[in-house]
Amino acid sequence: MAENRTFTMIKPDAVEKGHIGAILEQITASGFRIVAMKLTQMTRRDAEKFYEVHSERPFYGELVEFMSRGPIVAAILEKENAVEDFRTLIGATNPEDAAEGTIRKKYAASVGENAVHGSDSDENAQIEGAFHFAGREMF
Ligand code: UDP
Ligand code: MG
Repeated sequence: MAENRTFTMIKPDAVEKGHIGAILEQITASGFRIVAMKLTQMTRRDAEKFYEVHSERPFYGELVEFMSRGPIVAAILEKENAVEDFRTLIGATNPEDAAEGTIRKKYAASVGENAVHGSDSDENAQIEGAFHFAGREMF
């Protein structure tokens, strides 16, 4: 995957609350092109694998439970400087610390149930995109 791409998920909390449309609107209005997208649900095992890097953290069990409890929107996004610009658009992990107008500030309930995921590096964007999508699902 090119370096101008990132990977996102609209997490189960935001899907449950009906925020898919508003969040996608903010993403595309901010200049990101949708390369791949689907409504899907991670199994417990999928969530364990996706967040394996956090397996020693105290919140891991809760995170796996949360991320597999309902459908998510998974997407690959393209824009110049995609990883960094998308992290700016979503805001800090804890919505209490997130800047005004960011997606997490507007839609996240807590540091755990924080509405959206955004990759933290080009390398992880590539790994995470490939976790959810086959090459022929990327446009
Ligand atoms: N998380 C949590 N408690 C914490 C920190 C993180 O439940 O104290 C969850 C939260 O859903 C977060 C995810 O674990 O989005 C991954 O954490 P990370 O530190 O990678 O934050 P992110 O990159 O998503 O901002
Ligand atoms: Mg992270």
